[in-house]
Amino acid sequence: MTAPAIRGRFAPSPTGAMHLGNARTALLAWLDARSAGGAFVLRIEDLDRPRVLPGAEGALCSDLSWLGIDWDEGPDRGGPFAPYKQSERAGQYDAAIDRLLADGSAFLCACSRLDVARAASAPHDFGAGEVDDHGPRYAGTCRGRPPAEVTARAASQGRSPAVRFDGRAAKLDFLDEIHGQVVAGPQGIDDFVLRRSDGAAAYQLAVVVDDAAMGVTRVVRGYDLIGSTPRQIALYGALGLAPPTFAHVALVLSPSGERLAKRTRPASIASLRERGVTAEAVLSALATSAGLAPGPRRSARDLLPAFSLAEIARGAVTLELP
Ligand code: GLU
Repeated sequence: MTAPAIRGRFAPSPTGAMHLGNARTALLAWLDARSAGGAFVLRIEDLDRPRVLPGAEGALCSDLSWLGIDWDEGPDRGGPFAPYKQSERAGQYDAAIDRLLADGSAFLCACSRLDVARAASAPHDFGAGEVDDHGPRYAGTCRGRPPAEVTARAASQGRSPAVRFDGRAAKLDFLDEIHGQVVAGPQGIDDFVLRRSDGAAAYQLAVVVDDAAMGVTRVVRGYDLIGSTPRQIALYGALGLAPPTFAHVALVLSPSGERLAKRTRPASIASLRERGVTAEAVLSALATSAGLAPGPRRSARDLLPAFSLAEIARGAVTLELP
């Protein structure tokens, strides 16, 4: 069997302006795919409708283009695995959830957030370095209960049941292309949500269905998602799909040492551009933070020859901009 063609992706959520941290992740994912002669996919992860910011998708695309990061398939240009926006892919998520329910890998759950918090036996801890916020740990309340009973219980509270993955058999470790063998915390994987009671597919499910459907072979994304990876690998297994490789790149910290997030109001790529900072200067700062050898750099493409994923910095980085 020949190895599948290399396909990377960038999968931003259009919930705010792109900052240096997102740009660094996009650049590294792009360099990883392109330096191996692979294709690059842009997928817009807009499932969390209330958080979607009007105009953010267009702004993301123009920021990427300004930096010289191009893509072969995406919402603006289509491709063989369209649509490339999660809000238009509900049918695929439902089909996967039906399969998981049918073979017993998933179950219906009537618990509200409050029920889950009340039943939580221990504070959620997913291992050292874990920065994902998955909320209180689910105690398994509805697992093994007859679906009709769970549906009736949810209906009595005016809701539809959610769907959860049975995480008990999940493997806890995986190989990260940057960090080596990563081992999740001793508590293992909880029964995470696949579909919320409002019918929306959850991130964990959607990202696996999409990466598999779009033939993604290499996932390069932010370190904040490292705790999601064992969950996603378990889903690949349950759906009989081959997982991609995973690499989690360091987060960018503000000069005061805080993780860039909307809360910390990091400078957006658009505002740097408006201030007259050139794409070359931004690329240079991003490349230096990734340990790419200094040298004359004009464009993202000029960074390709020296790129090596295995050699980029593991720890969080701060960036120096002129
Ligand atoms: N949509 C996620 C985010 O913007 C990224 C998902 C992923 O790369 O798996 O944080």
